[in-house]
Amino acid sequence: MGPLQIKEILQTAPENQSVVVKGWVRTKRESKNAIFVALNDGSTIHNIQAVAEPGQFAAELLLTVTTGSCLKVTGELVESQGSGQAVEVKIADIEVYGTADPEQYPLQPKKHSLEFLREIAHLRPRTNTFSAILRIRHALAFAVHQYFNDKGFFYLHTPVITASDAEGAGEMFRVTTLDLNNLPRTEEGAINYKEDFFGREANLTVSGQLEGELGAMALSKIYTFGPTFRAENSNTTRHLAEFWMIEPEMAFFELEDNMDLAEDFVKSVISYALTNCKDDLNFLQNRLTEEEKNKPQNERSLPLLEKLSFVVDNPFERLTYTEAIEILLKSKPQKEGKFQFPVGWGIDLSSEHERYLVEKHFKKPVILTNYPREIKSFYMKLDEDGKTVRAMDVLFPGIGEIIGGSQREENYEKLLGRVKEIGIDPENLWWYLDTRKFGTAPHSGFGLGFERLVQFVTGMGNIRDVIPFPRYPKSAEF
Ligand code: ATP
Ligand code: MN
Repeated sequence: MGPLQIKEILQTAPENQSVVVKGWVRTKRESKNAIFVALNDGSTIHNIQAVAEPGQFAAELLLTVTTGSCLKVTGELVESQGSGQAVEVKIADIEVYGTADPEQYPLQPKKHSLEFLREIAHLRPRTNTFSAILRIRHALAFAVHQYFNDKGFFYLHTPVITASDAEGAGEMFRVTTLDLNNLPRTEEGAINYKEDFFGREANLTVSGQLEGELGAMALSKIYTFGPTFRAENSNTTRHLAEFWMIEPEMAFFELEDNMDLAEDFVKSVISYALTNCKDDLNFLQNRLTEEEKNKPQNERSLPLLEKLSFVVDNPFERLTYTEAIEILLKSKPQKEGKFQFPVGWGIDLSSEHERYLVEKHFKKPVILTNYPREIKSFYMKLDEDGKTVRAMDVLFPGIGEIIGGSQREENYEKLLGRVKEIGIDPENLWWYLDTRKFGTAPHSGFGLGFERLVQFVTGMGNIRDVIPFPRYPKSAEF
């Protein structure tokens, strides 16, 4: 089926057999004795070298073999004369599928900035950096499905379009087919959503959790893995308007089980990448080392592979929110007035606080639990003291929050009370509340932002560089 991939050809023993290579030219180099063309088809970070003799092909043909052009090369697979590769192709025939005018093709064989590459997101997968990231992203997605399948979870497809405005309407993207220039009005002058496609207001989902819980109350262990949308106007290196979230939801899991699962799950998928993405991780590690070359020794981060192995090999630190606040209050930046935001029981930790705990104090991933109820969602189970809820956030070095989760409130009266308290009309959530009326059960779950995981594993500083076509404020070009 189809031609051999360059990855496969590079692993083939050279016996002067004829091979066909199809790929894009990364570089062409001419010396007195030979013409070298480096071809890549994205199957691996490594190029295959194809070699021709000077004068073997017409000058006009060779002029079209430039960086970015696409070729079919036929020739013998031979042991490489040069260093750096075991095999190479002695070209017998070249077919140029597509040229790439060097005057116009924006990707030249030199270092381009990540900012520039974002402007040409349609071509950036052809760079080493982005193809490595995309292969790792794929491997992680595969590992996610494999992990849950092995553990008896079922993949539940929750809707992308939702009508429940339960999670903070300000951050949602509206879905409508109404004519914005001619909106139907009610007698009172409000927009008449009865005439809209769904007969009510609809939005893109901010989380599959509520529907995920419905699944868990039947299949026991489910997970979702799908696109999620937040219209938050935050231009940070950790937020996208469209991202992918993995949300397992488990009946009969308490907070402790939830933490155990989260930790085992993240370690397992990172470990999968370490085993299966060695070449790409090595490439990215070198790239990062190069980037930090000019920093003083003590400001350089751990080499990427060491950082990943460290996370896999060491237990995460677990402590309560209250304990974390005590640590922060006694911390050096607090005493020296270096924190931008004030610290005190009840605050929503900001990223400087999270990073202090993870990067300075514990120097490892941290799971914080039992947050004040006021700063967490209505569906989290109340602790006995009535002040805190059974929430858990997993915080990672360089990233901050990577997972947010909790044990869910399974008591109908308590949940209804919380719904009313925060001003949601229970009518809108009748189906969610029903699960607590009919065969309720203790249950838990969490959400992992897939791009934040990919960011951690690839070491990329900006979340816009770990998704093929990022969506963020004022940007939806590709
Ligand atoms: P943050 O405080 O970082 O904005 P959050 O509290 O809004 O996160 P949750 O609603 O708990 O996050 O979502 C679960 C997970 O989804 C987060 O832990 C994070 O990994 C990821 N996530 C949340 N918002 C975004 C976003 N805008 N872009 C990418 N990932 C996100
Ligand atoms: Mn957020």
